Amino acid sequence: MTNLALPPPPSAAGLAALKAAAGSDWSTDVDLIGPKLVDWRGRYQGATPLLLLPRDVPTLQAIVKAAALHRIGLVPQGGNTGLVGGGIPPADGSAVLVSCARMNRIRQVDVPGQLLVAEAGVILADVHASAAEQGLAFPLSLGAKGSATVGGLAATNAGGVQVLRHGTMRALVAGLEAVLPDGSVLHQLQGLAKDNTGLDIKQLLIGAEGTLGFITAVALKLVPVPAWRAVAWAGVDRPQRALALLARLRQLSGGQVESFELIPADGVDLVTTHLGLAPPLASRHAWQCLVELAGPLPLDEVLAEGLADADDAVIAQSDAQAAALWRRREELPLAERRDGPAVHHDIAVPVSAMADFAEAAAAAIEREFPGARLLAFGHLGDGNLHFNVRAPAGDAAAAWIAEHRGSITARVHEMVVAAGGSISAEHGIGVMKREDLARLGDPARLAAMRAVKQALDPGGIMNPGKLY
Ligand SMILES: Cc1cc2nc3c(=O)[nH]c(=O)nc-3n(C[C@H](O)[C@H](O)[C@H](O)COP(=O)(O)OP(=O)(O)OC[C@H]3O[C@@H](n4cnc5c(N)ncnc54)[C@H](O)[C@@H]3O)c2cc1C
Repeated sequence: MTNLALPPPPSAAGLAALKAAAGSDWSTDVDLIGPKLVDWRGRYQGATPLLLLPRDVPTLQAIVKAAALHRIGLVPQGGNTGLVGGGIPPADGSAVLVSCARMNRIRQVDVPGQLLVAEAGVILADVHASAAEQGLAFPLSLGAKGSATVGGLAATNAGGVQVLRHGTMRALVAGLEAVLPDGSVLHQLQGLAKDNTGLDIKQLLIGAEGTLGFITAVALKLVPVPAWRAVAWAGVDRPQRALALLARLRQLSGGQVESFELIPADGVDLVTTHLGLAPPLASRHAWQCLVELAGPLPLDEVLAEGLADADDAVIAQSDAQAAALWRRREELPLAERRDGPAVHHDIAVPVSAMADFAEAAAAAIEREFPGARLLAFGHLGDGNLHFNVRAPAGDAAAAWIAEHRGSITARVHEMVVAAGGSISAEHGIGVMKREDLARLGDPARLAAMRAVKQALDPGGIMNPGKLY
């Protein structure tokens, strides 16, 4: 797919130089390395001759300088919760794995500046806890918060359920420190709200999936903990009406809609069948919405008025009820897995096009792949759906998926691009989507991306074989 050169397998002299650079922070222990060579879903199995575990920036800098000198591929890894194989080294053992997990200090919580400076290996849940101790919040959360690290979150430009209001990591990272592929250190950690001195290099590293250098620390934007929060569940007959509800709620609340999730009736059924959780609404509405509003002052009347156009709605009356509603959304992927195999897609289209896309693309897939059952759910407010294609019910489901996976994904991605969308809304490209990015990506954008990679990493040592 690319004319970017890949580094050769490391020589014995090169490996010795990396060990010397790492001091005592390296290992060849297969029990320690083994779990880091398989991704979360068990789809990618890698190999490596060496694991490096630097604890500080000078050690990582020495490692990168040695790797540049000997032209050795380095694969950054944080919590290994990525879903596209980006943090797994190539299966031929041609690259060295570098875990950033031990660089895990929270350097500073700046209360007046509403910033938290965390090293790459800090786990997201620990960011939440440190911010909460100061009465502040970091407004990004996701299912893997107990393992995902801030380095990985920044490298994949992670999102989550509050993107609608607060944005992805691109919006939430105010500053960044990194070791670049030549071993130099980028010092952009100050978190300046205004800095008009040319290109914003930190934004190149966010979403680069470890291909332009190691993120060593980030300054994260914090927000006040909202004093008021309300969660509701509503039913409608078409996704277009869900979109209209969202627009009305955003207008009435002055932009205080924090989450707006779309779930089809089939999804509610799956959660009932496999997890025993009763449907929130008495009737089976074709499309259902989970809504969360948050702010400094109560907006109960606004929420009720905003939901007046729904066919039915319930508003949680306690934190426990709110958590119970969220559980039905958060555990839908688990219920889906228990039901059987599916071809998963994590796609985005412009918000205003999403409702029409959801209906038309589902109809096309069900027509072209007879027996396919669509389950499209997720972050309607962000124009981001998990567009999953389930196999026909029955014993032959796994074989059906194996036969059709490639052509279903190719077709879904073609429809997404035709609708002006993205084949990766949240998880990145990694190795999973490389071919489709090359096939469907904007040629000018791909050429610019490769030019940046070539300029910053001419030896191709950073995360070889990923993304481009
Ligand atoms: C249950 C579950 C739910 C999820 N939900 C969401 C969701 O709602 N939204 C969402 O956006 N994502 C979601 N994800 C995926 C998400 O991308 C990862 O959880 C997270 O962003 C990766 O962090 P990590 O530390 O595990 O990185 P890893 O998996 O270790 O690495 C991911 C990528 O980042 C690179 N990388 C890691 N650390 C560094 C570093 N210090 N410097 C440079 N590059 C680095 C790796 O090379 C790799 O390419 C989910 C994953 C799971 C398992």
